[in-house]
Amino acid sequence: MWKSFTPPGWLWQPGCRIYFRQPGCLFLLVFSGVEYYHIYISNEAEHGKTVEEGYGVIQVKVKVILNPVAGRGRALKAKPQILKALLAYNAELHLEETKGDYHATEIARQAVRAGFDLIVVAGGDGTINQVVNGLGEERIPIGIIGCGTGNDFARALGMPADPVAAVHRVMTGETQLVDLCRVNQRYFVSSVGIGFDGEVAFHANRGFRWVRGKTAYLCSIFKTLFSYRAQRIKLTVDGLVMEFNSLLVAVTNSPTYGGGYKINPEALINDGLFDVCAVQYMSRPEIIACLPLLLPGWHRSLKKVRMAKGRSITVESAEPFYYQLDGEVLTDKSLRFTMLPRALAVKGARVEPLSGLEVAEEKPARAKEA
Ligand SMILES: [Mg+2]
Repeated sequence: MWKSFTPPGWLWQPGCRIYFRQPGCLFLLVFSGVEYYHIYISNEAEHGKTVEEGYGVIQVKVKVILNPVAGRGRALKAKPQILKALLAYNAELHLEETKGDYHATEIARQAVRAGFDLIVVAGGDGTINQVVNGLGEERIPIGIIGCGTGNDFARALGMPADPVAAVHRVMTGETQLVDLCRVNQRYFVSSVGIGFDGEVAFHANRGFRWVRGKTAYLCSIFKTLFSYRAQRIKLTVDGLVMEFNSLLVAVTNSPTYGGGYKINPEALINDGLFDVCAVQYMSRPEIIACLPLLLPGWHRSLKKVRMAKGRSITVESAEPFYYQLDGEVLTDKSLRFTMLPRALAVKGARVEPLSGLEVAEEKPARAKEA
């Protein structure tokens, strides 16, 4: 088991600790204010084994991208546990903390160039989104440790909520291919929400950081109730055109969004299809009455709700609209969605064993009224 102590004065820095298994064998220096973590093997023997026998030659280069502000600091709090769990494996670790918008994208891009074998992301859907946008269509496996506000992508992958359990799953699990989604020039992994959704995400990101998950989303919904206005939207799903005064349009590849709300309960992340939930404009009392149905996914039975599946989707409006992309808020007047089936490799994911491409070809997409 790992033990730790504060190092002597000549080595001490704020937050510095040394972790070791046995004195003089394998130890880890941890500086909370320094980006990089290194493993040193200082002795050739532990428990009577040589380095090669005990640990093997270091083979796997792992980049850990940790967002210290994800989930109100949840990732930062879990950092020592995550590192200790990773040290149990035969890997060369290189941890880097993000320092602002799109930094994770740049780190991921550099990790591709540097030849890392695995990128472990400790953060929320927004951090994963940035990493995926840095990878592009490179098939370097990523591992997900869900430490964010919503964690809907981690949920869709069947990853454990506990960070240590998630590390063990990433390091011991098999690599699965899931769909990668693109809207205009940006990749996403979980969801895009247009209209009401976009404003809800806007308020969730700006004003409700003291609460997490569904509660944060619920607070944002009530705030948005008093600011949202109906917008004329033209939605096209595989050639089928729907034009209506919109409350929201959610195009997702994961069944949940907003921290667990089952907006598209039938969505699969490896079927090669987008799931679409389109809702016509509702009054405030209607929204309040229908809101409880969203949590278990019962909103599909409402008259003003249309559910659809498709591979090629466009959303257009005469006026710019807010939309959220894996939690990040953006504005545009036209969105074109493209599906890249099984283009994202995720280590440790537990997904239904089906071929998304075959399913998409056998069952042509069609819109339906639930
Ligand atoms: Mg899908």
